[in-house]
Amino acid sequence: MKILVINAGSSSLKYQLIDMETEQVMAKGLCERIGIDGHLKHTPLVGGKSVFNEDISLPTHSEAIAAVIEKLTSAEYGVVASMKEIDAVGHRVVHGGEKFADSVLIDDEVLKAIDECTPFAPLHNPANITGINACKAVMGDVPMVAVFDTAFHQTMPAKAYMYAVPYDYYKNSGVRRYGFHGTSHRYVSKRCAELMGKPIEELKIISCHMGNGSSICAIDHGKCVDTSMGFTPLVGLPMGTRCGDLDPGVMQYIMKKYDLDIDQMLNILNKKSGVQGISGVSSDFRDLEGASANGDKRSELALEMFNYWVAKVVGSYVAAMNGVDAIIYTAGVGENAKTTRKAISEYFGYLGVKIDDEANSKRGEDIMISTPDSKVKVFVIPTNEELVIARDTRDIVSK
Ligand code: ADP
Repeated sequence: MKILVINAGSSSLKYQLIDMETEQVMAKGLCERIGIDGHLKHTPLVGGKSVFNEDISLPTHSEAIAAVIEKLTSAEYGVVASMKEIDAVGHRVVHGGEKFADSVLIDDEVLKAIDECTPFAPLHNPANITGINACKAVMGDVPMVAVFDTAFHQTMPAKAYMYAVPYDYYKNSGVRRYGFHGTSHRYVSKRCAELMGKPIEELKIISCHMGNGSSICAIDHGKCVDTSMGFTPLVGLPMGTRCGDLDPGVMQYIMKKYDLDIDQMLNILNKKSGVQGISGVSSDFRDLEGASANGDKRSELALEMFNYWVAKVVGSYVAAMNGVDAIIYTAGVGENAKTTRKAISEYFGYLGVKIDDEANSKRGEDIMISTPDSKVKVFVIPTNEELVIARDTRDIVSK
């Protein structure tokens, strides 16, 4: 079975074609600047075919999907003989609200429900719907599955997902913590249990997804019981450019003082804050580590704040679960930044965590970076959201 995984943004579309017999990625690519002019980078990974990397006209997502299918099936760049070899399509959908606690086969009713979640994710869900409709237009009745970023977090208890604001905002308008990166937290926690050789139902795991956007998730006996992102992905840890947790009173103060409206304020909190805002140097941890090593104090502070926040949230989840067996680092920073991993782990002395420096310096593989006598195990597990989407799609269309 071959599954096409689609992650559609407002002007971009990422894809992977995965052969489910071997779980090998046959080809991957990215359409960019959809609706502006258009660019496609297509990379075949089997059969020794050429990479395609050129500007092409992409007025809408339909042309983008058509271009992807054309490349996947072409003599020069292709990895399958025809579109008929693609058995199903799995779509990443950002927000499933309280309606979706699992992945689901897409039909008209599901599309309507995804659209009803648009007020919660006004930029993302419409783009995901556009991607689904574009696939329908080009690929006809190939079965399609939606995999939600929020679904894994639907097991949180009310005490974790409620905000202490008047209850009617929740009851009438769905104001609550939803959480994001669920597909990633689900993947790495399952993989962690496999690496530990124990059923996930016997473990307490804290997974730290640290990328451009970052979130932490407490997974008790296989179920999410708390996570650091909330109603939106803006809260929790300070991120590349997002502010993380903030006293709402700060917003009123800044807006009045600098004469900003709420959209300007949120733009600053989304795009100009986080480690970028603190350092004034970059949102990229590579740049911050470099600048900090060269004596830049604000870059050093940004890194210290990030590490402190990770340690603080992990500590709160140890309390929430009354213990922890394993801590996972994943995503761009978690998988690559060994200095950051080491600095965060130093906060976990009270848990009996000991880091093996040699293991911590390895990259690109699932690895335990704690010493054998470390009371709590620490892992680096490269995330693979596309594989989760492909597996869910296979399981649902095979039923
Ligand atoms: P996204 O949240 O957009 O999916 P990623 O998970 O790919 O992002 O993470 C991207 C971030 O990972 C970069 O901004 C950078 O800060 C960090 N990163 C990538 N490689 C390294 C590295 N070698 N050292 C430190 N940080 C890195």
